[in-house]
Amino acid sequence: MGHEDTINTAAARLRQLHTDITALRRPAGDTTRTPTRVHAPAPLDLDILDHMVAARDEVISHTRAHKQDAPAAPADDTIYAWMDANTAHLDDAKRRAGRALVVRQSMEHALLAGDETVVRREPCPRCACWGLSWQSGPQYAVCLNRRCAALGGGPSTWSLAQLAHHHTARLETIKAQSAT
Ligand SMILES: [Zn+2]
Repeated sequence: MGHEDTINTAAARLRQLHTDITALRRPAGDTTRTPTRVHAPAPLDLDILDHMVAARDEVISHTRAHKQDAPAAPADDTIYAWMDANTAHLDDAKRRAGRALVVRQSMEHALLAGDETVVRREPCPRCACWGLSWQSGPQYAVCLNRRCAALGGGPSTWSLAQLAHHHTARLETIKAQSAT
């Protein structure tokens, strides 16, 4: 999965949140279309709206910090492609930070929509097992492998930002290996 896929996935999840809000705001009695939900019910639409605004602000701030004369940001989910196009001139480290930002937001969108599989699909950064579990209260992932805590000398908990950085670095390693 390359960065283009990451951008497309993040955009699709953002679009889904928008669809969720629209569905929640349907007037009473309107039964024209009920979206098929495969995950837990979405939280209050205000939470989703706040989240979408904050995510958008973060993408714009990140982009403008590196390219002050970037054109106006699109209002829809093409904002990730906009960010990518306007940060293409940056060095590897800064590009990596931008990619990790998109990966983290993509995970946040999915979790808000009730999809916790995004966390289970990440290997544990410490023990590399596939035993991560999302804790919605404290908002972190915890590794359920009992040997993992012993490896690192403490609880194996990971923020989404840490998982996103690990995800990004792991993809780069895979890409570098397949290029040689
Ligand atoms: Zn672990």
